[in-house]
Amino acid sequence: MLDAQDIHKSFGDGAILGGVSLQVRKGELVSIIGPSGCGKSTFLRCLNFLEIPDRGTINAMGVTIARDGGPWRRADEQVAHRLRTHVGMVFQSFNLFPHLSVLDNVLLGPRVVKRETGPAERDEAMALLEKVGLGRVAQRYPVSLSGGQQQRAAIARALAMRPEIMLYDEPTSALDPIVAEEVLGVMRKLDDEGMTQIIVTHDMRFAQVASDTIVYMDGGHIIESGPPETLCVNPADDRTRRFLRTVL
Ligand code: ATP
Ligand code: MG
Repeated sequence: MLDAQDIHKSFGDGAILGGVSLQVRKGELVSIIGPSGCGKSTFLRCLNFLEIPDRGTINAMGVTIARDGGPWRRADEQVAHRLRTHVGMVFQSFNLFPHLSVLDNVLLGPRVVKRETGPAERDEAMALLEKVGLGRVAQRYPVSLSGGQQQRAAIARALAMRPEIMLYDEPTSALDPIVAEEVLGVMRKLDDEGMTQIIVTHDMRFAQVASDTIVYMDGGHIIESGPPETLCVNPADDRTRRFLRTVL
């Protein structure tokens, strides 16, 4: 489904990712945890080439890009574009377009891909908004929505591209716990439907109850990974144990 092998990334002289490998199965829900600055966001962004890895190979849904330290060429960007059609992404800060209604935000992707959108695209967008509980606010503008509603709109917008894999970078960090719950509920619903999801999160409770696999990153490396009942209860590495002691 998604296979990242030996991903390296530096900014200037600073090595941020020192060879990160991760395999994700269809329908799996993977949470990535770890201390601030350890490279979680950078790794997530590398998975859909929002950040270009220096070295390493990523295969998502049969689209493969291998990097060997060489320049990023136009042909690579074309393949990355194809890969991104399989991979939706949601950010901490929602990133909705303020001058578009919620519905038009969701229709944006299909509009770019298909040039024209008709009743079918509109119905599909409305169905997605219903699914995330926003059917009644489809015509409103993002500024008039709560943070949780905006984040659910951002999820609907990503889903409108019919991705097979969803990436989330701290989707609930800007939200209070009650509103965050609505967003996490949507992610659990997608999990029930078989969506493959990778979530960078500081929400240990969600990571523990919802994940198939928790990945612990530190210093640009994956230190260990496993099901919550193993990783959180009986971590193998001291760094994981210390981190969990501070967050659990
Ligand atoms: P947090 O939990 O705080 O979000 P993180 O694990 O997501 O942290 P990253 O955002 O991946 O960490 O950042 C890892 C390191 O890379 C940090 O030291 C950061 O300053 C650096 N970094 C990230 N993006 C860039 C960039 N575009 N240019 C230079 N340095 C960067
Ligand atoms: Mg981050």
